[in-house]
Amino acid sequence: MIYLDHNATTPVRPEVLDAMLPFLKDGFGNPNSVYLAGQRTRKAVEDARRQVAALLNCKHEDEVVFTSCGSESDVLAISGGAWQAFDDTKGARRRLVSSPIEHDAVRGQLTLLKRRGFELDLLAVDRHGLVDPGSLAAVLGPQTALVSVMHANNEVGTIQPIAQLAALSRAQGALFHTDAVQSAGKVPIDVQGLGVDLLAISGHKLNAPKGVGALYVRRGVRLVQGITGHQEKNRRGGTENVASIVGFGKACELAAAELDASARHYETLRAKLIGGFLQIPGTRLNGHPEERLANCAHFSISGVDGHHLVVALDLEGICVSAGPACSSGSSLPSHVLTAMGVDAKLATGSLRVSFGWSSTEADIDRLLAALRPAIEKLRRVPAGSL
Ligand code: PLP
Repeated sequence: MIYLDHNATTPVRPEVLDAMLPFLKDGFGNPNSVYLAGQRTRKAVEDARRQVAALLNCKHEDEVVFTSCGSESDVLAISGGAWQAFDDTKGARRRLVSSPIEHDAVRGQLTLLKRRGFELDLLAVDRHGLVDPGSLAAVLGPQTALVSVMHANNEVGTIQPIAQLAALSRAQGALFHTDAVQSAGKVPIDVQGLGVDLLAISGHKLNAPKGVGALYVRRGVRLVQGITGHQEKNRRGGTENVASIVGFGKACELAAAELDASARHYETLRAKLIGGFLQIPGTRLNGHPEERLANCAHFSISGVDGHHLVVALDLEGICVSAGPACSSGSSLPSHVLTAMGVDAKLATGSLRVSFGWSSTEADIDRLLAALRPAIEKLRRVPAGSL
């Protein structure tokens, strides 16, 4: 199998699995127990917290709160932050700001809050998927509770000017959250330099297992709890998923050590992929030409349905996607491409290719060799007959 869908999920690295195994065997103590078996797992959780904090350049390790996934981190940040700001100001701060290209975890939570009486401003993005900080400045005010703009987009890879957006928001007393699920481990992240209050990441996007995530919560920022309980310093209840947290820590340590090397590797693969792909007539590259993730590329292909192309490539043993995994199968054009102004018909002919630690130039060669005949074949099939 040629796996080129690392923005959907990544394989667990062998070093990560090795780090986890002891905690799935004898090291099963509850990290909240006072006896030695508990204290051993407590130490493992705290070591992992240090590794995650180092990847994000946190000032204090306890700014990392472990959660069950990136979606939970987003929800805790947005709902917890919005309600805290609302309560602290007796309802004066009741406006939220975001972008139209966010992941469904963010979009869904914003919709729920809107139903509960919050107002929502969605900032436009340009044709590359970039938010203009000037448009944020224009809507911010003393009523703004929280701003949430993603760091890197999961479909087209565009990276937002987070430091500028965060500075504008915090100058108005609003909390600033960013979803860094796709960027963590791929580009350097410095929460202090970015000046964010809240930043969400997820284990399975950076070679740790599924079902573990973290939320950076800047010291001093309070959140209304989602899952109640005393764990994670009263910020997220529930007995910690020790083995996965340990794996997550290890994966963050590896990602931090390999950031430069993997960036160079991804640039090489991406240049090869784009060069080969765009030689196929009727194709175009989406996303920002410079402000983007190096590990992925997103294409529009005229006269082809992206889902059909994914199936055709799957038959050749190649995994890529037509859009985010969580909405695969949907026949609607992606909300990200729609917000970027991509024509609805062209948007259905989308293909996202994303690589990771295990990807090779030979993988790209195999994909390119399979692509042209698959596209030509699909273009010959009369519309509506598949
Ligand atoms: N945010 C972004 C940008 C994502 O791409 C994803 C997953 O695809 C998530 C959040 C959700 O992460 P998780 O799958 O860990 O809930």
